[in-house]
Amino acid sequence: MEATQDKELLRGGQFLVKETKCEDVFTPEDFSEEQKMMKDAVMEFNDREVIPHKARFEAKDYALTEECMVKAGELGFLGVSVPEAYGGLGMGFVSTCLTCDYISSGTGSFSTAFGAHTGIGTMPITLYGTEEQKQKYVPKLATGEWFGAYCLTEPGAGSDANSGKTTAELSADGKSYKINGQKMWISNAGFCSVMIVFARIEDDKNITGFIIENDKTNGITMGEEERKLGIRASSTRQVFFNDTVVPAENMLAGRGEGFKIAMNALNVGRIKLAAACLDSQRRILSIAVNYANERKQFKTRISDFGAIKVKLAEMATSAYAGESATYRAAKNIEDRIALREAAGNTHQEAELKGVEEYAIECSILKVAVSEDVQNAADEGIQIFGGMGFSEETPMEAAWRDARIARIYEGTNEINRMLSVGMLVKKAMKGHVDLLGPAQKVQEELMGIPSFDTPDYSELFSEEKEMIKKLKKTFLMVAGGAVQKYGPQLEDHQQLLIAAADILIEIYMAESAILRTEKNAQRFGEEAQSVQIAMSKLYLYHAVDIIEEKGKESIISFAEGDEQRMLLMGLKRFTKYQNYPDIVDLRDEIAEKVKAENKYCF
Ligand SMILES: Cc1cc2nc3c(=O)[nH]c(=O)nc-3n(C[C@H](O)[C@H](O)[C@H](O)COP(=O)(O)OP(=O)(O)OC[C@H]3O[C@@H](n4cnc5c(N)ncnc54)[C@H](O)[C@@H]3O)c2cc1C
Repeated sequence: MEATQDKELLRGGQFLVKETKCEDVFTPEDFSEEQKMMKDAVMEFNDREVIPHKARFEAKDYALTEECMVKAGELGFLGVSVPEAYGGLGMGFVSTCLTCDYISSGTGSFSTAFGAHTGIGTMPITLYGTEEQKQKYVPKLATGEWFGAYCLTEPGAGSDANSGKTTAELSADGKSYKINGQKMWISNAGFCSVMIVFARIEDDKNITGFIIENDKTNGITMGEEERKLGIRASSTRQVFFNDTVVPAENMLAGRGEGFKIAMNALNVGRIKLAAACLDSQRRILSIAVNYANERKQFKTRISDFGAIKVKLAEMATSAYAGESATYRAAKNIEDRIALREAAGNTHQEAELKGVEEYAIECSILKVAVSEDVQNAADEGIQIFGGMGFSEETPMEAAWRDARIARIYEGTNEINRMLSVGMLVKKAMKGHVDLLGPAQKVQEELMGIPSFDTPDYSELFSEEKEMIKKLKKTFLMVAGGAVQKYGPQLEDHQQLLIAAADILIEIYMAESAILRTEKNAQRFGEEAQSVQIAMSKLYLYHAVDIIEEKGKESIISFAEGDEQRMLLMGLKRFTKYQNYPDIVDLRDEIAEKVKAENKYCF
């Protein structure tokens, strides 16, 4: 743990074993004036250039996507995270996420084009490029003069990204490489000027990254546009390289460094993708409540039915938790970058290490928010009834567009397993002490439980105690599984996935509570009453999920007395002293959303 200015900055993954004070988390209510101005500008762009043309995007108007990208470039949005020295705005990581958040809700088509260009299309050069490479390519990418694509996936190499068959062969004079191979599912392929391409040199264990200009005369051909379930105006094609010549100086980082580049680019991409799903959720809820307030059945507004209120309350709550967790992690990354720069790292090194530090949180967010937006769109369809199923209303496209977020930037299965795998690795490296706290939990389980009745009268005192107990649950479950299977744990994917679900719920629930606690302290509890209700509701569900996942894990890896002891521990760690009345909580949240006729937090 290190101090930045007057607050403690936890390392990635440490949230699990160290307490975070509410004053140390960044929340959307902490946006600076500059960030608010950026948010307004981006929202205004989305409202003007993207949303009115929704039907054209759905009709696969690829040229419109490109046009919007050009306009986004003219306004500086493509260069938000690019340093000023390379033609960007040089803004911090929070502003980067904020831009992805508010620019993305109009249509998944533009959102994907924007994300692929600014993230995986540009970041590998800003993070790993030489000075010459950065000078040559980044200013063009930051302004939208050129667009970028990222060619990692191949027909036989998807999740197993390092297994690609594309080859790079050095010329006899050592001046260039010849690239041969086939890439697929390449976003922005149809209009990109430059591609980050991963290929294998000889029998290298790891692939190597190259910057390749999209020149048809240089053996580059494209497949037809893929016919997709959603994000229909996002260009996605296969790209074929046939003796494509690339100058040796276009290699990114060193030989065999490609897999590392690919993974780090994806870390950044994951938190940005989470951010890119947030405003979609807000918008889906706003459109849904609008409709529910208008639509009458049985002489009653459907928004007055309890069955619909549940949906509105749950949709608002998951959007609120998603915002809370995304901006908490974004600011941690920004602070870590600043710390490293202050310690003498170049901006490039600092950014790379800053994001890598929070790779666990990036995976957690990618999974949680991509699933929340899908659920929100699904409930949105249900609120619209038959009309929800029609192309005439926005829910149908929102649902189709949301689906991809669970697949790209690493599938949610892969990200779930990565989050726990990375945590265990960090523990082994000594970056996060899991062993000490896990042993303490073991001792607690052997001891006699306290029968005292704690005083939970203060705001969130019981909820914060519950979060501590949920963290003990993770340590108990993951610790037990590691003890039983050791390094073979990675073969027990069902256990890893259950542990990841526990981890995800802890991070999301804690983030919502900390945000609300911070805001209640400065704006008053009364002003935060609905946010308090949402935080309690989210936690209630988290406890249920954690109990279920904990139970199935314990039963699978422990037997006899050990199993009984762990199950008793689980019961103790997931028990409320005072159960919240979630029916009342949902009513309060839904009434607020109905009254405001939009997502209003
Ligand atoms: C619209 C779209 C745009 C895309 N854009 C790009 C892009 O710009 N650039 C790019 O390089 N790629 C891109 N992709 C590719 C995307 O990243 C891959 O589709 C994704 O990584 C999954 O790979 P796959 O499709 O080969 O699925 P597979 O890897 O074959 O996975 C199939 C299923 O098996 C599961 N699975 C795989 N391995 C394991 C394992 N070890 N353990 C447990 N489960 C496993 C997966 O979770 C999944 O459920 C895009 C894809 C789409 C659909």
